[in-house]
Amino acid sequence: MRYLILSDIHANLSALRAVLRSVRRQRIERVVVLGDLVGYGAEPNPTVAIVRQLKGLSIVRGNHDKVCCGLESGEAFNRIAFASAQWTQENLTPSHLNWLKELPEGPRDVDGEFLISHGTPLDEDAYIFGEIEALNSFQYFDAPICFFGHSHFPVVFSLNEESLTTRIPNPRKRLRMRLVAEARYLINPGSVGQPRDGDNRASFAIFDSDQRSVAIHRVRYSYQRTQQKIARAGLPAPLAERLAVGR
Ligand code: ZN
Repeated sequence: MRYLILSDIHANLSALRAVLRSVRRQRIERVVVLGDLVGYGAEPNPTVAIVRQLKGLSIVRGNHDKVCCGLESGEAFNRIAFASAQWTQENLTPSHLNWLKELPEGPRDVDGEFLISHGTPLDEDAYIFGEIEALNSFQYFDAPICFFGHSHFPVVFSLNEESLTTRIPNPRKRLRMRLVAEARYLINPGSVGQPRDGDNRASFAIFDSDQRSVAIHRVRYSYQRTQQKIARAGLPAPLAERLAVGR
């Protein structure tokens, strides 16, 4: 089975469309979304509409989804994130808002192949940035692979009996690796709609469960179009500016 793994789309319609266009010939059979469909970007309704129709969708909610649909108050959010969550809540259609409210909490099992979580497999709101958080998170699940999001940084952590290894994709080269039976993996596909690793291209992964391989891809999209939408919606300017630099 070939899975498209998407995370942190953040209502960036141009980025989502560019990703889906780029995988048209990739024989994708199922799609996985690791949360944060909305928040920050100015096109939550068309973004949710597309995600709702994705083939064989498995999904977990993200922290922004919870605040944007009113499940949580957002008191932990900074001023800009809170302003965008309020705007999103006011602008979502009732149907999309209710659909977001029903999104399941992670972690979830997908086809007995892997787990998915927004934050860590233990806590949907906690971050995995470096090796300490990764090592800690490996204790809380048994599956060979867990895909996670939330940090917006693409990375592959692998743990075998001897050591923990971290692989960060090189911006000039697609990261593709074979997953071995002797190791377990925590994999972040990076963010579709708001990359923060200094590369402004949309980031996503493809996992092939028959070949036991994973690849992290980057694709260019018109971030200028997304910036215009953010400006026109009256959302805070830094939300638009950061997309140009991918930080
Ligand atoms: Zn996010």
